[in-house]
Amino acid sequence: MSGPDLSIAGLQRAIEATFLARDRRRGVAATYLWFAEEVGELARAIRRGERENLVEEFGDVLAWLSSLASLCDVDLAAAAAPYAKACPACSRSPCACPEPTRLTAPDGGAPVR
Ligand SMILES: [Zn+2]
Repeated sequence: MSGPDLSIAGLQRAIEATFLARDRRRGVAATYLWFAEEVGELARAIRRGERENLVEEFGDVLAWLSSLASLCDVDLAAAAAPYAKACPACSRSPCACPEPTRLTAPDGGAPVR
């Protein structure tokens, strides 16, 4: 017996089998709201340093992102492919693009306000 297929394509297929019918009934707009809510929960877990919640929140965000991609007829593996080898903008790895200075804190943490 083999374990679950944890490739991006395998994950999208599994999430479709589990949730697509319900996701279709809910629709793209309401599903997007759920996705956004999960992103907010991830932000809160990171900000509060809730280590024990982080893995769960990352999983939730990934699952809702996959649901959204399926509702929009987007192949998540194809969407990820441009990032698999190098930076899609500069084609280098590590990325050699100029770092954003306006929205990124010096430590790469929360945006400077
Ligand atoms: Zn780059």
